[in-house]
Amino acid sequence: MKLIALPAFADNYIWLLHTDHHVLVVDPGDSAPVLAWLQLHPDLSLDTILVTHHHADHTGGVADLVAHSKARVWGPAMEVLPFGAHGVQQGDTLEWHHLTLNVLEVPGHTAGHVAFWGQPVGQAPVLFCGDTLFSGGCGRLFEGTPAQMLDSLDRLAALPEETRVCCAHEYTLSNLRFALAVDPDNTALQTYAQTCAGLRQQNKPTLPVSLNIEKAINPFLRSRTAPVSQSVREHDASALDDVSTFAALRKWKNEF
Ligand code: ZN
Ligand code: FE
Repeated sequence: MKLIALPAFADNYIWLLHTDHHVLVVDPGDSAPVLAWLQLHPDLSLDTILVTHHHADHTGGVADLVAHSKARVWGPAMEVLPFGAHGVQQGDTLEWHHLTLNVLEVPGHTAGHVAFWGQPVGQAPVLFCGDTLFSGGCGRLFEGTPAQMLDSLDRLAALPEETRVCCAHEYTLSNLRFALAVDPDNTALQTYAQTCAGLRQQNKPTLPVSLNIEKAINPFLRSRTAPVSQSVREHDASALDDVSTFAALRKWKNEF
């Protein structure tokens, strides 16, 4: 099973998994990059589309892909989508050619946002987390509360450390500029920021990233640690407990 990041729009990735015969895509905001890839791989057919949340940059290409392929679509049961989809919720599992995908509800960015986690045979697991977790950052809270997002990120952080995190946007370098302002003495973060800058200079994706790296460098997964929580408190006196610290960190990022 192969995992590919198809660039779309300015900074989206449409994640594509394929076997020798079948293709799955996640959050196709635009059909064109997927159709172009399929044209280059005429032996492979698109049979499954996963959607993490209702935003147009994750859903805009679904109807066109379904018209071309008759792929089945799975998306969050708790959200209104502009096309027919099988609704999925917390605890559901999907079977796709010997891969079992587990559905996690991760509200925060949107109210019904879901993520998909699974382990291809003989490979590190994959996590399709949409706009919930980004490398070095997290999604903006458009519909959910800081408490919901903190809980969602806690549950993602509890997945196996070797999990390949497949975020829906290439926001890594700007996230890391903020992370370094919050957590300047973090040597793992300094090293990772250099690695990512090199990748972007070569126009390569910084993703997927392993969950163990994220846990070492992402301030939104480290908001309870002494360096991050102290830094947030120095910036914003309203940061008192775990949730208010996370809320203040998210607000600081919005204004950074
Ligand atoms: Zn979004
Ligand atoms: Fe998005």
